[in-house]
Amino acid sequence: MSDDEPVRDLTSALRFLQVAVARQREDHERVDATLEALMAALIEAGVITDEAIDDHLMVASRTARQRRPEELSVRLWSGDDKYAIPDPGIDCEARMHLCQGRCCSFDFPLSEQDLDEGQVRWRHHQPYMIAQREDGYCVHNDPATRGCGVYAHRPGTCRQYSCRTDKRVWIDFEARIPAPLDVRPRLIEIRRPAKKPTP
Ligand code: SF4
Ligand code: SF4
Repeated sequence: MSDDEPVRDLTSALRFLQVAVARQREDHERVDATLEALMAALIEAGVITDEAIDDHLMVASRTARQRRPEELSVRLWSGDDKYAIPDPGIDCEARMHLCQGRCCSFDFPLSEQDLDEGQVRWRHHQPYMIAQREDGYCVHNDPATRGCGVYAHRPGTCRQYSCRTDKRVWIDFEARIPAPLDVRPRLIEIRRPAKKPTP
């Protein structure tokens, strides 16, 4: 990782947050205005009372909270000191030609320890999930050797992972029969700016 990479990461994260906040504010203003108009019209027409609206709002807010999309959540790995995690004892080098290092295509969040160190990159649009390339692998995974570019600082999830019983990796671990490779490109979803209502 070059010296200015953390600064670039932070700048991108800040820009993402600013754009996300601006879009959310526009969305909220539009929904607010629509609701206000609708409620005023219903009360005026004698269809509903203020109190009945409050009751419905309470139920609707609860449902909305339960439906909050995953990508709006911040995820962090809550394990202890990653440097204290015992090595699961798998000879990755001897198996790499079979497994293609596919464990480095699995999705997971970083920990506060990782964030403090600033060595491992995360997805700015989905904090603090490991940053991945479009080929589905972690950005720190070398596509030629499948080695880890941040090995000394790799996250706790990578340190504790054992593929021994993972059917995504091995049909038979002992016999060294790999499962079919299923690494799919992950496309980053970029939202279009919301259309403003016609005045
Ligand atoms: S899939 Fe297993 S053998 Fe292959 S790199 Fe990952 S931990 Fe090592
Ligand atoms: S940090 Fe290293 S070990 Fe962990 S997923 Fe990325 S390349 Fe693999």
